[in-house]
Amino acid sequence: MTKTDLPLRMTCSISPPEPPRPSPFFLRHRGNGPRAIVLLPLLLALAACTSVPLPPWPSPTGTVTAPPRVVAAPAPAPIPGVVVQPVPDRPAMAPSPASAAPYSAAVAARFPAPSVIYNTPGLQEGRGSFTSNAEIQTWLRELSTAASRSPGLKAAVLPIGQSQRGETLEALVLTRAAGTDAAAIAASARPTVLLVGQQHGDEPAGTEALLVVARELTQGLLRPVLDRVNVIIVPRANPDGSEAGQRVTTGGLDMNRDHLLLNTPEAQALARLARDYHPTVVVDAHEYTVVGRFLQKFGTVQKYDALLQYATTANIPEFLTKASEEWYRRPLVAALKGQGLSTEWYYTTSTDLADKTISMGGTQPDTGRNVSGLKNAVSLLIETRGVGIGRLHIQRRVHTHVTAISSVLASTAQRASELGQLQPYVEKEMSALACKEEAVVEAAPTLTQQEIVMLDPVTGADKTLKVEWKSALTLRKIKTRVRPCGYWLSAGSRTAVERLRLHGVQVLRVAEPASMLGDLYRETASSAGVRQDVRGSIADAGQIVRAEVALVRGVIDAPSGSYYVPMNQPLANLVIAALEPDTQSSYFANRLLDGLSSTARVMSEPTLRTEELP
Ligand SMILES: [Zn+2]
Repeated sequence: MTKTDLPLRMTCSISPPEPPRPSPFFLRHRGNGPRAIVLLPLLLALAACTSVPLPPWPSPTGTVTAPPRVVAAPAPAPIPGVVVQPVPDRPAMAPSPASAAPYSAAVAARFPAPSVIYNTPGLQEGRGSFTSNAEIQTWLRELSTAASRSPGLKAAVLPIGQSQRGETLEALVLTRAAGTDAAAIAASARPTVLLVGQQHGDEPAGTEALLVVARELTQGLLRPVLDRVNVIIVPRANPDGSEAGQRVTTGGLDMNRDHLLLNTPEAQALARLARDYHPTVVVDAHEYTVVGRFLQKFGTVQKYDALLQYATTANIPEFLTKASEEWYRRPLVAALKGQGLSTEWYYTTSTDLADKTISMGGTQPDTGRNVSGLKNAVSLLIETRGVGIGRLHIQRRVHTHVTAISSVLASTAQRASELGQLQPYVEKEMSALACKEEAVVEAAPTLTQQEIVMLDPVTGADKTLKVEWKSALTLRKIKTRVRPCGYWLSAGSRTAVERLRLHGVQVLRVAEPASMLGDLYRETASSAGVRQDVRGSIADAGQIVRAEVALVRGVIDAPSGSYYVPMNQPLANLVIAALEPDTQSSYFANRLLDGLSSTARVMSEPTLRTEELP
């Protein structure tokens, strides 16, 4: 199969939808307009579509190009022993305080309430707190029970793990497949959308919106989506952080920088869910800082209702990026615009007040957004303006998320058959690169200039800023290497093996001693450091080993009980991110591997007797 065989395009004839079912406990309409104001355009988009093959999906340059080939192998050299300096235990971290950040009435007037009122438990009038963890559990169970009574509809609340404080992490599965287990979902031949809310505990609007979406899918206006799409909803990924009103988890760790390492049970739960249910599309619902350091740095208040970004890390397949942009982001921007809601690319700025650079969301393979991309899913980050303003504009923030997520669901339903081809194609393509093509080991954003609009904190007027802008849309290659055929890991690398397998990576155990031709890592420099993101140091990520390495061609003597991770598998790009040691996100740098001598690149297809791990 070649790239030009895929994907198909759809043509859709638009016809009026069936009248929406009322969901009286849920949405109350404000004003005199039609009640279905939000979802009607989305339902229209779901009208009957036919699949027809069309010419190749053009790349921006009009041609489909293969990635550049292979870097030269380094010259042989002796392999010294590896010494890693011990690093001290990580310091405890206090949670960041949740501060209310009111602004002038003129600014507030720029954000009128939407024409609908959402009525989750946490959005009831007079209520001071958002929906509690217990209320979410009740909500999911009630919806699941009600949905299960509908012919052809299957629903289940899955326990997917436990938070650090022992709160049960839960996912609601909604489908018209034969069952709600992973095998039934896989057999459904429908794309699966995974919706995740509140990885950061102080970003509540995503959770409230996901409760709305769950309700509308089971008994409201979004119900037709389930004819074509399976949906899994994790309304609150970080219940401990939510209860404490803090960004991080109970252990002080930013779980949205933990999706490659999987040190937190919260990130592990999402990884296990993604491994088992293999979503085609993942939405990560967040909120961003409205005032805080933006007011301090620029004298402005943030304006955009939604900031959006897809996966932007090294080695994301080109077709996945195209699908993210053309099938998802563009319709999403239009859907928000149709509701009078403004959007921009996701951006943030560092906590260093002297640094006025604006950065798009990071390029490290550690966020949910980027790791989902490395798992070959269309991955979308949706951020509303909400951090630090308490309940201010909460209906508008929830409305923004509901509109955006409804658009994603509608796009998935509309593109269901193409998506069913896209992911297998991309997975096959990535598997086929092993042993020959180039992999980017480290990439960085490109510094450009950009105009963004913020608000005057007193008058509320637009204020256009020309800023230094680190674009994640064009990645600079910092370090590239030829893709190995696989990675060898020592028998003692159990933690790394366990984490890789939690992602769904195939790891084989060497059953008989063998020799393999490979590249070994020779350390040329090493220092202690702290993992960074575009905000600054990552919350309590601990100290890492920053190594520089040279590759040394040699023979790997692989004893029985050591491991082989083949690269001709769909998650090859995630394996590169985890196992190339000289990056801040790697398993070596973060001490999930005990030394550089515990791993090596296998450079020709080995003859091995291996066994599958149980
Ligand atoms: Zn967040």
